[in-house]
Amino acid sequence: MKSFDLHCDTIGECYKKSFSLRKNELHLDLERGKSIGEHTQVFAIWIPDELRGDTAFSYFNNVADFYHSQIKENDDLISYYNSEKKTPIKAILAMEGASGCGGSIKGLHSAYEKGVRLITLTWNANNEIGGGAFAEGGITPYGKEFIKEAENLGVVLDVSHLNRESFFDFIEVSSKPFVASHSNIDIVNTYKSPKRNLTKEQVRLIKERNGIIGINFYVDFIEDENAAGFDAIDRQLNAFLEMDCEDVISLGSDYDGCRINPLLSSVEKLADLYSWLNNKGYNESLLNKLFYQNAESFFKKINP
Ligand SMILES: [Zn+2]
Repeated sequence: MKSFDLHCDTIGECYKKSFSLRKNELHLDLERGKSIGEHTQVFAIWIPDELRGDTAFSYFNNVADFYHSQIKENDDLISYYNSEKKTPIKAILAMEGASGCGGSIKGLHSAYEKGVRLITLTWNANNEIGGGAFAEGGITPYGKEFIKEAENLGVVLDVSHLNRESFFDFIEVSSKPFVASHSNIDIVNTYKSPKRNLTKEQVRLIKERNGIIGINFYVDFIEDENAAGFDAIDRQLNAFLEMDCEDVISLGSDYDGCRINPLLSSVEKLADLYSWLNNKGYNESLLNKLFYQNAESFFKKINP
């Protein structure tokens, strides 16, 4: 089977805990990823909100060096997305929290040279770019410059984690298709952490701009007493399809960045999710869009 996941925090966890990407006890490792068949993974380097400026920039660079060394060491299992090499896992590098660029356009260029092809503009707090989900405020003048330059470079921009004000500012400035790499629809009012979920209006705008949305597995975003595990994913999927988002939906697991139901908390369980949804009545052509096709065609458009 084939899958494409728009977000995980695994590389930073491996870096912090001195784990190998090949085999570890986290949600994702290469040996388990291999069992899927063909898996593409966006590896985000999460920049903690305590880090800004030079410290954020050097933290990003350290983790990025670690990422490249892990790919080199495990080149029988993993290779860069755009390389011709055939490996069971393909990798795309991302930055979660644009502070990793150190607060300068020069830093953005340097991150691009380091391989970054997707940037989640903020994490939960404010940064130089704008307001995160748990903070106030819109996109700053520097943020606007950053967005334009990142889009010129061909970096995919990611609105997951932006607060509503910054999201709508972003819509005004951005001129390329973009993603919400790990976000859900806010469909019931019993979620524990609704601020990170998208309103229907936001989903509509992402669709209008030919963007894609990766469904996040975090229990606090999708589960309540009425739906957990696969049922919670089913409920999300249903809500997206009611909004004609067949070509928008994708996976954004958030592996190793959050708490995930045991039914989904290891990468090879994507195959169980696929079969479960298939048995539930979702046909293969739809499931293939969700599991990889939408993400694949999106990246082909942006980074051919
Ligand atoms: Zn996140």
